[in-house]
Amino acid sequence: MRLERKQRYTPVTDKDRRCGDIIYHSFRGTTIYILRGKNGDMLIDTGLFHVRRAVEKWAKRYNIKYIFITHAHADHDWNARHFKKVFGAKLLLNRKDFALRSRFRPMSPTRNKYRLKCAQLNISGSLFPSPKYRVDVAIKSEGSRLLEKLGFDGEFVFLPGHTPGMTALLCGDTLYCGDAFTALFYEPEIPPYAIDVKTMKKSLEKILELDPKWLACGHGLPVKLSDAKKVINDYLNKHE
Ligand SMILES: [Zn+2]
Repeated sequence: MRLERKQRYTPVTDKDRRCGDIIYHSFRGTTIYILRGKNGDMLIDTGLFHVRRAVEKWAKRYNIKYIFITHAHADHDWNARHFKKVFGAKLLLNRKDFALRSRFRPMSPTRNKYRLKCAQLNISGSLFPSPKYRVDVAIKSEGSRLLEKLGFDGEFVFLPGHTPGMTALLCGDTLYCGDAFTALFYEPEIPPYAIDVKTMKKSLEKILELDPKWLACGHGLPVKLSDAKKVINDYLNKHE
């Protein structure tokens, strides 16, 4: 796959698209994950319309009972309504992102070089909202209680900044981090845009404190934290 050949960091992929325990589908810049559970599996994010068919075909190999949206941006929740129906799944989203479903909030670039792209995103974001969807389970707090109840071994971690309700899932040595960190441009990078850059920086510090082995990002292939550390530290030092 073109995307995978371009990766400049530790390659992790094999034919089954598994990286250790990480089950993922990386296609056209979007990476969707599946977490196996005791009472059914969980789809982590849904992607934009252009990945719908491929993701659906892939996810049908699993027993999807839950869909966890890391944050309410179109490239993560566009297919939420469709997949909810197809799989008969329950949908989870942090309640702090509920309002984003119907009203896009302008983003700020996190580096000067992302200014133009950010301006474009702010236009397309407000012009093309995701199809409306209903949330079944509101994520209100961090920790493992809710996940345990649903049959998953892991905990929710809040990493606000990119959006107010940006939520990650820590499972074993992997942090499924949505857009709290990215490999969008084929190498480890901080999120290029944030609703609140200051808060995003705190979340980057939190990622370092959590110290998982893998960052399973919403764009690009999973990144080793050892490869991401330098990028995060350099950014935090230069943008105090
Ligand atoms: Zn995204």
